[in-house]
Amino acid sequence: MDVSEGMTEHAARARAQVAEGARRLYERRLVVATAGNVSVRVPDSNLLAITPSGVPYGGMTASDVALVRLPDGVQVDGAWAPSSELPLHRAIYAGRSDVFAIVHTHSRYATMLGITGRPLKPVHYAYGLLGDPVRTAPYVRYGTAALAEATLAALGTNGAVLLQNHGAVTVGGNLEGAFERAEMLEWLAELQIGAEALGPPLVLSEAEMAEARAALSGYGPEKRPGMTRAWHAGSGSWCR
Ligand code: 13P
Ligand code: ZN
Repeated sequence: MDVSEGMTEHAARARAQVAEGARRLYERRLVVATAGNVSVRVPDSNLLAITPSGVPYGGMTASDVALVRLPDGVQVDGAWAPSSELPLHRAIYAGRSDVFAIVHTHSRYATMLGITGRPLKPVHYAYGLLGDPVRTAPYVRYGTAALAEATLAALGTNGAVLLQNHGAVTVGGNLEGAFERAEMLEWLAELQIGAEALGPPLVLSEAEMAEARAALSGYGPEKRPGMTRAWHAGSGSWCR
């Protein structure tokens, strides 16, 4: 193992991010036991940092995180073997140059949809943050190149994909974005399943979703030059 390849500052930061992401995956109950995995692309390199396979997430540290070369999948650093879903992560990075982080969960409600083969429906405009539409990859055994291929195909240019009888994968331009989508996907799946128990949900039309997508493309914090916000502890409110 050529450890020197993994000693850059970018790589160290990426490994710390992945370890933090793994703990978050577990704390937010998006996975059970050691299932699921997280990775980030290491900037200015041909490396990715990925959670180790089968290692408990609770106390994960940066040195537990595997550093792997993207082109050939060779591990260059890390105390443990990389996630069994390394082929899936590599396939997505190879196929999507816009993706810098990947989160794979076995979250309850998203997995329920994958188990019943029911698609995620646009029951809320936030669906526009995930896909157009969100598809389900057919069942293939975990950890295989065939699953990697099926997942990339079903993901397309979207931010999320369901895996039949397995779980879900979300992607982003950074780990924050991929996590936000994992939580959004789970929330939407829960809303849909809950609403379906009450009666057939009202589903947004293609025109309504197109309008929502256009608005969402500009959604996010907007800096106001010259204005600052500070918390005023005395009054317990925000002041300028
Ligand atoms: P790893 O522990 O190997 O990452 O695998 C968990 C998993 O979710 C497989 O699909
Ligand atoms: Zn899995």
